[in-house]
Amino acid sequence: MSNPSLLILAGDGIGPEVMAEVSKIIDWFGANRGLNFDVSHDLVGGAAYDAHGVPLADETMAHAQEVDAVLLGAVGGPKYDDLDFSVKPERGLLRLRKEMDLFANLRPAQCFDALADFSSLKREVVAGLDIMIVRELTSGSYFGEPRGIFEENGERVGINTQRYTESEIDRVARAAFDLARKRAGRVCSMEKANVMESGILWREVVQAVHDADYADIELSHMYADNGGMQLVRNPKQFDVIVTDNLFGDLLSDVAAMLTGSLGMLPSASLGAPMENGRPKALYEPVHGSAPDIAGQGKANPSACILSFAMALRYSFDEGAEADRLEAAVEKVLADGVRTADLMQTDGGTPASTSQMGDAVIAALDASL
Ligand code: NAD
Repeated sequence: MSNPSLLILAGDGIGPEVMAEVSKIIDWFGANRGLNFDVSHDLVGGAAYDAHGVPLADETMAHAQEVDAVLLGAVGGPKYDDLDFSVKPERGLLRLRKEMDLFANLRPAQCFDALADFSSLKREVVAGLDIMIVRELTSGSYFGEPRGIFEENGERVGINTQRYTESEIDRVARAAFDLARKRAGRVCSMEKANVMESGILWREVVQAVHDADYADIELSHMYADNGGMQLVRNPKQFDVIVTDNLFGDLLSDVAAMLTGSLGMLPSASLGAPMENGRPKALYEPVHGSAPDIAGQGKANPSACILSFAMALRYSFDEGAEADRLEAAVEKVLADGVRTADLMQTDGGTPASTSQMGDAVIAALDASL
């Protein structure tokens, strides 16, 4: 059997810096755990624009469709701010998500004990937090038609349409239930069925999928506004939250800040299974290209490293190795090795990006 394939798109700004640390970790799993990957590299975002005049070349897109998983760093930067909308770096990322039809965006919010004091909430509210938000990513208000700014009765009217088909709701609900089976077995579905017809349909379909195929999972429903409140009041009540594109955009950012730093947040975007049974998949940190610290060796590589841990778990069914990598990151933090974003003001000398990566490797060595 050939090795599973990975396409690395490091991108712009701190993207290549944090991805260099992930490459060390990929090599470690090959050398020490017999997990070998066929790794290829290509350009995305501003880097692709500089080379090809587009933020994602057609050949790169075609290659992304063929590999087992794509690992992406970050895109964007001030150099590209004035480009036409159609060739902005972010369009490269949107093209990947759209053409790979990555409909389920997984955003874990996990609070490592060592970082509980970085949250804006009290330690006891967030310590040990481990929730997963599944956001529908390819439909809803950001894509629905009609959309645009139109003239009506002598004034302009801005229109976006919240639109969901049964099959779109069905597939993202299944993704959430499947995840819950690997976790604590609970799903909370969030919508606004009290004021939106799309929310009524969402609730009906999620319930029907549950009743037909996932009766072992505990399902609850919550209005999304209450969901936002509950996430801040008592986040540990949740295991998996499934919600639409718009509400998921907001709720996953709220949940993200429960855990402290952007430099710690991984994500996965999954699509339908390929012929080999693996889902189409893109793994990336939640943060952007951080132009303010790019090129200075200050970036925290943890979010990108934890994104690779998600790849091990969700693309390659290597849950135990994903646990090993997550535990290594947690140990490094507990040992007090911190990049600048994770330091209190009086916290001593911060670790550089590569020192943090090396510390994770040392913790992996110690795990053997
Ligand atoms: P950002 O996430 O790049 O940075 C926000 C702040 O967090 C900055 O102060 C940055 O230094 C810090 N930060 C982010 N990641 C960090 C890390 N790993 N370690 C330490 N500190 C970190 O968001 P922004 O400043 O709003 O955007 C910068 C550029 O990135 C823009 O061009 C934006 O469009 C782009 N962007 C890209 C993505 C993506 O590629 N998925 C996401 C968000 C923003």
